[in-house]
Amino acid sequence: MEERGSPDGDPARNLEQGPDGPETPIQVLLRVRPMSAAELRRGEQSVLHCSGTRTLQVSPPGGGPDVAFRFGAVLDGARTQEDVFRACGVRRLGDLALRGFSCTVFTFGQTGSGKTYTLTGPPPQGEGVPVPPSLAGIMQRTFAWLFDRVQHLGAPVTLHASYLEIYNEQVRDLLSLGAPRPLPVRWNKTRGFYVEHLRVVEFGSLGALMELLQMGLSRRRSSAHTMNQASSRSHALLTLYISHQTMPPVDPGGPPAGGKLCFVDLAGSEKVAATGSRGELMLEANSINRSLLALGHCISLLLDPQRKQSHIPFRDSKLTKLLADSLGGRGVTLMVACVSPSAQCLPETLSTLRYASRAQRITTRPQAPKSPVAKPPQHLETELLQLQEENHHLRSQLGQMDPKASGLTGARVAWAQRNLYGMLQEFMLENERLRKEKRQLQSSRDLAQEEQCILARQVQELERRLLSACYLHQLGPGPAPPCPCVMVPPPPCHALPPLCPCCHLCPLCRAPLALWACPRRELHLPQVFGSKAPADMPLSARPPPWVPPCSPGSAKCSRERSHSDWIQTQVLAEMLTKEDVVPSAPPLPMGPLDTSPVLRGGAAVPNLARRLEALKDQIGSSLRRGRSQPPPGEGT
Ligand code: ADP
Ligand code: MG
Repeated sequence: MEERGSPDGDPARNLEQGPDGPETPIQVLLRVRPMSAAELRRGEQSVLHCSGTRTLQVSPPGGGPDVAFRFGAVLDGARTQEDVFRACGVRRLGDLALRGFSCTVFTFGQTGSGKTYTLTGPPPQGEGVPVPPSLAGIMQRTFAWLFDRVQHLGAPVTLHASYLEIYNEQVRDLLSLGAPRPLPVRWNKTRGFYVEHLRVVEFGSLGALMELLQMGLSRRRSSAHTMNQASSRSHALLTLYISHQTMPPVDPGGPPAGGKLCFVDLAGSEKVAATGSRGELMLEANSINRSLLALGHCISLLLDPQRKQSHIPFRDSKLTKLLADSLGGRGVTLMVACVSPSAQCLPETLSTLRYASRAQRITTRPQAPKSPVAKPPQHLETELLQLQEENHHLRSQLGQMDPKASGLTGARVAWAQRNLYGMLQEFMLENERLRKEKRQLQSSRDLAQEEQCILARQVQELERRLLSACYLHQLGPGPAPPCPCVMVPPPPCHALPPLCPCCHLCPLCRAPLALWACPRRELHLPQVFGSKAPADMPLSARPPPWVPPCSPGSAKCSRERSHSDWIQTQVLAEMLTKEDVVPSAPPLPMGPLDTSPVLRGGAAVPNLARRLEALKDQIGSSLRRGRSQPPPGEGT
């Protein structure tokens, strides 16, 4: 029986057709590790046999039928690390990354099956002890190959690296300067899923990159259990960012634009009963298994022919989020499936083989990132055209200013340019001077408005007092008859009781002059006008009550004389009690610019002051007259 064969798609060849090349399947390499000394000691049997370079035979114990699996390449336990490096196709991925593609190599398999060994070699034998070159894994070999490649390219290339682990569903930066702390995984349209605040380190030599790798490896979580003395307890992702110096970053603050080559060392699935994990180890195992389950689920759904309609739950785990592009997006992906040959591990081995065979049917749509240099966006293109047009226009203008064309000699052109520059400077100074002047005028206007308001209030108060004094004078001393206004509680602003309740224009609440426009004022204050007031005289033409009566023999009746005055006062008060007082224009500053002109008030202020004086005089004379003429029935 044979599981489905692998398609022989060659990403590099297919991608030659263009940046939006056809669908490219995930490449899968199978590596069978040798039987370990412990397994041999326990007398365990090997159940896996390679047949040719691409087929694996599984012979179940107990004599069941063989099962065959076909992959891109199958390497048994006798093959060296160098063989794996050469056969797996990682160099092709490196080339694609150099051309701007996003490439991923990830190992997959049960715990203890040799994933970490395949990628980075055996665990370090001590602090700072490097892996022997012969045992170095795919990563170290790819790094060396890449540096060699870059040197032969000739074009300047910038290299950066980041290294993170997903431990118990938390992303930790293995290259962080301080202690690793959890980092959020975010998504945006341009970058897809990415880790925020991840440290991306620029490096310039193979040695520097190896140091970064060692730093990450030593910080990565690993523990011992019965199946592996150095079992990885986290998924680790080391990413190389390869950018040509002409490429500006796509996203400010994001990683450099260009190709990516990411190495993913997954933590292995494990049966807690088999590994004997307890406590923290068991929690870690559960977390690992959960994320691997999410990965398996995504792989199954990606194989669905209707997958374009179906939703792939990449958001189910941090691992699937970060592998989303490699599995279902625009990346080029290589899977290295690792298995143990021991019969004891057969169920997990079969599970790995099935997942791996299915994974090679998953296709991605590899696409090199479009850098702004390669194809500018629409708005930039438009801007570019506009600038080119403007450039052309300016050039033609410059041509018109050609000394020969304009008949100017070199010296005169220089003079004209100096002159233009001088004019520009003068305009700038003039602008600044006018701005300063405007500010001064505005503050002066504000001041004038304030003064006008104060004076208006004073005028109003004086007129109110005058009206009240006249009224009391007419009534005489003794208890005042109840004014209908007393029924209305006086507002707090009142110093005296109100006089006119039914008219909305009470002289004690509002401008007193408004009272004289009230058609019913005779009803409220008949005595104020006296019997001599002509009945047919229009109210607006009648003098106010505080105006002294005509003295016989005088050249002109004082009531008539003061009429124009009170009309002026009325107009003034009405004007001032309006909310938007329009001040007269303040004088323009006359002095030199650096001396701030004193612009207190406008033309209205002296007018108001004069009106105020006139009102005070009127009040004084009215009160004096009131004192000298005792009301009827009283001696004083
Ligand atoms: P995993 O990462 O899958 O849990 P490891 O890579 O840690 O497994 O390997 C488990 C053990 O098996 C380690 O001691 C490792 O050195 C050893 N091992 C794995 N693959 C090989 C191999 N191909 N040759 C020799 N030893 C191997
Ligand atoms: Mg491991």
